[in-house]
Amino acid sequence: LFARPWEFLTSVTDMANLPEAADTEIAFAGRSNVGKSSLINALTGRKGLARTSSTPGRTQMLNFFVAPETPLTIVDMPGYGYAQAPKDLVDAWTRLVFSYLRGRPNLRRVILLIDSRHGIKANDLETMELLDKAAVVYQVVLTKADKIKPPQLARLITETRALLAKRIAAHPEIIATSSEKNKGVDDLRAELFLLATQ
Ligand code: GDP
Repeated sequence: LFARPWEFLTSVTDMANLPEAADTEIAFAGRSNVGKSSLINALTGRKGLARTSSTPGRTQMLNFFVAPETPLTIVDMPGYGYAQAPKDLVDAWTRLVFSYLRGRPNLRRVILLIDSRHGIKANDLETMELLDKAAVVYQVVLTKADKIKPPQLARLITETRALLAKRIAAHPEIIATSSEKNKGVDDLRAELFLLATQ
C-alpha cells in the first residue's frame, strides 16, 4: 500500500466537486499545527505531499491523495482551532466537514490527531461530537510523542482511553506516533492497510 508513489489528486471546497467515491477513504483531522501534514508525509514517504495548514484564514479544503493500484484514498481535512478564527470561517469549516462526513459512503474512518503535549481539548471534543452525529468511526492517533517522556505518554494514553470509552463512535485503540522519530508510523500504516483491504 505504501510502497507505491503517493500523489495529490484534487482539492475540494464544496461537495459538488468531490472525486468519484472509488475506494476506501480514510480522512485525517486535527487542530491546526497538530502535525497532520508531517504525519501524512511520513506515512506516504513523500516529504512535500501534504502542506502545512497553519496559515489562519486560508481557504478551507479537503485534499485527496492517491497511489496507483492502491485501494485507499487519504483525505487531509482542514485543520481547526485557530485562536483568532472568525466565526464565519469556523461555520464554513463545520459545513464542509459535516457534509463530507455525512455524505461520503466510502469514508471508512477518521484519524483524529491529538498533540501528545496538549491532549484532548474543547474543540477536539466538538469534532468528536460532529463525528458521533455523522456516525463515522474515528480513531485517536497521538502526534509528536517524542515531545513528552514515556511515563507522561503512558498516562495520556490511559486518560484518553477512559474518555473514548464513553463516546459512541470512537475506536478504542490509540496509536502514539512521532513523524520526527518515525515512531508508530508503521503501526498506523498497518491499521490503514487492514482497513483498505478488509
Ligand atoms: P499541521 O498544521 O497539522 O499540518 O502540522 P505540521 O505537520 O505542519 O506540523 C506543525 C509543527 O509541528 C511543525 O513545526 C512540525 O515540524 C512540528 N512537528 C510535526 N510532527 C512532529 C513530530 O512528530 N515531532 C516533533 N517534535 N515535531 C513535529
